[in-house]
Amino acid sequence: MIDFSILIDAVYLVAVIFFILGLRAMSSPETARRGIVQAGGAMLAAVVVTFLTPGLAPSNFAWIAAGVFVGGGAGYVWAKKVQMTAMPQMVAVFNGMGGGAAGAIAAIELLSSMSDPASTGLSLAGAVIGSVSIAGSVIAFLKLQGWMRQRPLTFPGQLGVNLAVLALGVAFGVYAAVSQNAFFLGPFFLFTILYGILLALPIGGADMPVVISLFNALTGIAVALDGFALVNGPLGDAGYAMVVAGTLVGAAGSLLTILMARAMNRSLTNVLFSAFGAKEEEGASVQGSLKPIQPDDAAVMMAYAGSVIIAPGYGMAVAQAQGKVKELADLLEQRGVDVRFAIHPVAGRMPGHMNVLLAEAGVNYDKLFDRDEINGQFPQTDVVLVIGANDVVNPAAHRAGSPLQGMPILDVDQAKDVLVIKRGQGKGFAGIENDLFYKENCHMIYGDARDVVTKLVAALKRSSS
Ligand code: NDP
Repeated sequence: MIDFSILIDAVYLVAVIFFILGLRAMSSPETARRGIVQAGGAMLAAVVVTFLTPGLAPSNFAWIAAGVFVGGGAGYVWAKKVQMTAMPQMVAVFNGMGGGAAGAIAAIELLSSMSDPASTGLSLAGAVIGSVSIAGSVIAFLKLQGWMRQRPLTFPGQLGVNLAVLALGVAFGVYAAVSQNAFFLGPFFLFTILYGILLALPIGGADMPVVISLFNALTGIAVALDGFALVNGPLGDAGYAMVVAGTLVGAAGSLLTILMARAMNRSLTNVLFSAFGAKEEEGASVQGSLKPIQPDDAAVMMAYAGSVIIAPGYGMAVAQAQGKVKELADLLEQRGVDVRFAIHPVAGRMPGHMNVLLAEAGVNYDKLFDRDEINGQFPQTDVVLVIGANDVVNPAAHRAGSPLQGMPILDVDQAKDVLVIKRGQGKGFAGIENDLFYKENCHMIYGDARDVVTKLVAALKRSSS
């Protein structure tokens, strides 16, 4: 029989290099597409070559092929159909599946690793983390999809109960390994999955994307631990690939989690344990009144401005208004107006959401400015056009006692005039009243973002013809 070991090792090595290159390319929207193709292609090659592993029972091929067909097919169809705004919950489910798979592999390893306590420990950790990840990710999916109440669910003594459930799960895992009895894997999974559910329940909808990223990191760590446990077995080479791939996912997911938490000025413990959104701000009252304005008047204000900054948010994504927004920006520039875009790192429902949408619509990257780059420019700006953004422009973040206190925001209220497009008096994702809308220099243009921007475009065209 031909020994394909060297070929397999070589493909894994090349795949690992492409994982790293792909990950690097994903750090910029300009190269992200290429990065995804590189890393995805490398993963495909690694999976295909694994079929050549010596000693792999041919009778298992049909099972594996069926799994790849069903899982790959479902993933392909779902990813093709998903709306950009529903991406976080899709990521949650896909990531949870990875965690579940890693947990299941680790549990099987648990039953075959007794002679080696180190492998037992690694398998146990992988199985616990994997099952926590799938359970938590499913709760995250249900909350973000609106199939479960978004508000945090808390009860007295929650932390103690959670830890007791986790301890029971770990105890059953240890006992399954010591007794080599698969029966105890049942209660092991029951309690670790329950722990994952309990961990996610007190986390509010607004914090969910951060938590999804955390579960993603956990899945990576579970895969890496599985890899360590597998290295000494017949699938040893695949173990190495899993260690590298899992570590990369774990590291990238952890960094993303930290960056997102930082963008909201929260610590991870605060995200996990503070039940953000459970309580309303007490005694807060906004001053001033809401001042509606017609699109034609708003178009005139922008047409005669020297500088306009557009601040997009979740509402622009829902309305799919980005194409019209690009048209609006072009028309203003043709009139000599300086147009820039202010991008808050957590505007929308995932990091980079606004960059991707605007780039798709053809807006040049050099027109997009991060919060840190543009925040100092608002006082010198004539008009800021806020399109379907709310929390990320809420000056309540500067007020002591506000639930948003400390969240870094776009200081759009500093501009001479602010125009806000939104449909009505709906609150932002955090469920908090927005002080900006009541300020003297702020005017509201009510309506769906796409309809309103279409009207602004039409008004500008009329005025220049
Ligand atoms: P928000 O969710 O705060 O506000 C969106 C606003 O858009 C709403 O007030 C809504 O008001 C309006 N809107 C909704 N649909 C439409 C429409 N069709 N046309 C016009 N307006 C519409 O969005 P932001 O982008 O400002 O903030 C993002 C939120 O998500 C923050 O709370 C952030 O912390 C959170 N988040 C984001 C993460 C990320 O990684 N991006 C991660 C974690 C959390 P109305 O109903 O009146 O129209």
